[in-house]
Amino acid sequence: MSARVKAPEKATGRKAAPKKAAPEKDAPKKARPTSSGGAKRAAVVSTKPQFTEINLIGTRPISDNSESREGTPVDLFLLHTTEAGGGENLISYMEMMADRSYHYVVDDDAHGNTVYDLVDTDLAAWSAKGANHRSINLAFGYSTAAWTGEQWIANARNAIRIAAWLAVQDCRKYGIPVVVNSPPYRETAGISDHNFATQMLPETGNTHTDVGPGFPWDLFAADVASFTTTSKGAT
Ligand SMILES: [Zn+2]
Repeated sequence: MSARVKAPEKATGRKAAPKKAAPEKDAPKKARPTSSGGAKRAAVVSTKPQFTEINLIGTRPISDNSESREGTPVDLFLLHTTEAGGGENLISYMEMMADRSYHYVVDDDAHGNTVYDLVDTDLAAWSAKGANHRSINLAFGYSTAAWTGEQWIANARNAIRIAAWLAVQDCRKYGIPVVVNSPPYRETAGISDHNFATQMLPETGNTHTDVGPGFPWDLFAADVASFTTTSKGAT
């Protein structure tokens, strides 16, 4: 509890909404990702990475740190660092502050990773200010944007793999292009980080630079590719 948590950026105005499209009102409640999701999706080559999933949606105050997307199409999956703790310490802190949240926290704990589902992905979490309505947000906890590539790999290699898997599932669910948009960024929908919003979406009022220059985007992109490679004939 000692370290200060550099929390996600509080929700602000709603001017960042991109061009309006039909609200995804029919989207079901957040589906738990499974590796056997039926025949409607293309076959996945790599198997789901192992993790323990703890769903706190509807059972903890953290899931109320959220708001309606107000019909904004979801076109970004953004990665974050916590700059401090993860797990229960982080969740309790965000509940106390009552003004910040993520959809997922992926812990890089020693006993095998734990994924905390905090906010329904059909709702906006409070992670990236004016980009909240259009984004799904995942934090690695513990993590810091100052990590080198070596530190990321040593501390969070499996968490990175899990984040890739979750990103692919949500890209499919929401129609987000499965494009890993790493620095230097392009103006595109896809999977990126908080710094993308800061650099490329100045109108959203973001200032944070996570996940930081040391993040191993090449590994992450390879993980994403491993979960999206389709079998022959699949679409
Ligand atoms: Zn962030």
